[in-house]
Amino acid sequence: MKRSKPLLRTAMSPRATIKPKVCAWCREDFFPARPMQKVCGPVCGAHVGRQKTAAAALKAQREERKATRAAKEAAKGVQVLKKEAQEAFNEYVRLRDVGKGCFVCGVPLQLGGLGGGFDAGHIRSRSQADHLRFDERNVHGQCKHCNAPGATKDHVMREAAARLLGQEVADALYADNRVHKWQRDELREIRDTSRARARQLRKERA
Ligand SMILES: [Zn+2]
Ligand SMILES: [Zn+2]
Repeated sequence: MKRSKPLLRTAMSPRATIKPKVCAWCREDFFPARPMQKVCGPVCGAHVGRQKTAAAALKAQREERKATRAAKEAAKGVQVLKKEAQEAFNEYVRLRDVGKGCFVCGVPLQLGGLGGGFDAGHIRSRSQADHLRFDERNVHGQCKHCNAPGATKDHVMREAAARLLGQEVADALYADNRVHKWQRDELREIRDTSRARARQLRKERA
């Protein structure tokens, strides 16, 4: 569109040579007096200042929380991390095996309320085979009845393992007597991977 009259650019109206800006606070047009001016005046300037202060405080708070979390995580010992890793791993196993049958007696496994309707049971117990506590071959959905202390006799467990894994894998599992000293970072890795896998399974079923 062509203007019928050109804009005046005279010494009498210096503002005609300055482009108007939009105020960062009130969104009104204004003519800046300085090249970097972002707001129309001191009132809007104060608003923006307060907003910046609040944002900086929020950022500092977030960073502090992050540092606190990191310090807490760094202070965790092997026993704590082992417990966290086991909880996460068992949760993953329960989600993996829900809908299947108990690997010992075959009763259908359903997720329940508090504590879950069934357990992540170990073929070789954690006390006897600490190095297999996070081994997927060794941990399976098991009803609470079969997982109660002393409820599943050793020969029944061996039969269940052979049925589930095949004789060869079951034999290898029972023959595996490595000694393993769990490291903290290794436990963190298992914990975090298990949580991610559990999340993924939940998402797939949602
Ligand atoms: Zn303004
Ligand atoms: Zn059972």
